[in-house]
Amino acid sequence: MGYPEKYAMRHNHRITPILKNSDREVEWEFTAPRQGAYQFDLKLETMDDNKTPYLALSLRRDELTNPFGPVRKIVKLSSGLKSYTFYLPLDKGLNRGTISLLNTGPEPWKPFQASAIFPIVLKKMVVSIPEHRATIAPDFILIPVTNHCNYSCVMCSHGVPEKKPSLSHFPEPLAGRFINALNRSTTSCHVALTGEGEPLISPLFFRIVNDVTNPLVKFHFATNGSLLNDRNNKWIVKSPFSHVNVSLDAATPNVYRKIRNAPFKPVIQNLEQLSDAIKASGRSDLRLIINMTLMSENQNEVPAFIELAGRLNAGVTVNYLNDYNYFHDWLVERPEFRFDYKEQILVHNETLETTVTGYQKLARDAGVPFMIDEVMRPLLGRSPGGKLVRPSNELTNDPPISGCPYLWTGDWRGTFVLHSGGELGACCLQQPLGKVIDSLPLEEAIDKVWNGTIARQTRADILAGKIPEPCSGSNCLFVALQRLWNEKFYTVDSERSRID
Ligand code: SF4
Repeated sequence: MGYPEKYAMRHNHRITPILKNSDREVEWEFTAPRQGAYQFDLKLETMDDNKTPYLALSLRRDELTNPFGPVRKIVKLSSGLKSYTFYLPLDKGLNRGTISLLNTGPEPWKPFQASAIFPIVLKKMVVSIPEHRATIAPDFILIPVTNHCNYSCVMCSHGVPEKKPSLSHFPEPLAGRFINALNRSTTSCHVALTGEGEPLISPLFFRIVNDVTNPLVKFHFATNGSLLNDRNNKWIVKSPFSHVNVSLDAATPNVYRKIRNAPFKPVIQNLEQLSDAIKASGRSDLRLIINMTLMSENQNEVPAFIELAGRLNAGVTVNYLNDYNYFHDWLVERPEFRFDYKEQILVHNETLETTVTGYQKLARDAGVPFMIDEVMRPLLGRSPGGKLVRPSNELTNDPPISGCPYLWTGDWRGTFVLHSGGELGACCLQQPLGKVIDSLPLEEAIDKVWNGTIARQTRADILAGKIPEPCSGSNCLFVALQRLWNEKFYTVDSERSRID
């Protein structure tokens, strides 16, 4: 069976969203026919370029279900009648956001009243499902800054002697090119300095943050929290970070020790200090998040974890364990805990779904931002055909993989990865789309891969509902839902996935 006619027709459907002017910003509203990346084309007329302000297109998300806050794309304006293209990852249904002008001053960026700066006229705004080719560079980028670590958590390769990675930092020459590219950027960039290690161990981590002076670039990172000492916390609140994501996995010393093989109390003291430092700084654009990888051993700790987050004025993200064959012979035996990876993986069932809904309600009632982040590590089950799928009662006519936005744009859950060997992937689970060459400035080298044949074919496949080759080994949410969809409903129409 082919694709529903409705879906095929929507590829070229262009829709003008509802716009509403307020004092300081233009509000937009758009009902997306499906989840995925959308292209926003804005036509603006500006009369004076002396002040070189910036324009921000923001997507508002429910603060209580998204600890990371809104997704915001910023571009430097030039004078005259100009068109600007942005990509946003929208949910199916109603999406809301704003268009505003920003100053370039210290944090947080304050919206300007447009008329107070110079005349600017929004001539037109059109939203459409994007094409195979992305015209602008990726704006959420992950740099695996180091794989050195001072911890040995049971579910990480640092915790298993025979799986320990060979230790290295991200290469200096590539880091230098990256810093220069970020300083030249005229569009906003969110950079995750996170890899299979503890970023605060790496001198490069501090160098990248200190040497990037472009106000369009913001950083975030995941850490085990052990090195969030007074000196580092003071530096963090003065630096352009948007959030600090601390992996805790437990709300009690006993379970923390079992999973992370370290004492709980010093890390909690560090977090209390960081929370106080953020409060004292007055910054509303810097968030503290604590995260938990959910498994059999710690699933009962979620209510206490929410309470801990409330005390720390932090948001919570929860992920599930990875489910790949690679993890099925994974065993860590310690005096206090025997961790058998495959037995700890939670499997989708109705009871667990009800429990998780209960956690979401608990967090909402407590006013704690709480997100179960299933994009990269969904809760899986087996289909009747024996495939690893994400069971769902909500499959629609749209092929689920067409909802993956990451070949066009990132968000807090999915980022473009520049691996230490120069390979590039749209997310951390995807096989590389290519490798940057040395002879070009890094942004041009990235663009060659980002808009190259493999990337365009991958986009074409995703829009057509076909699992692309670079994503075929992944168990991400989109691939796992697509496997279920393929078994239940349709076969893939190969004609629709050919690139021009
Ligand atoms: S593996 Fe492919 S489909 Fe899955 S999140 Fe990454 S880019 Fe999207």
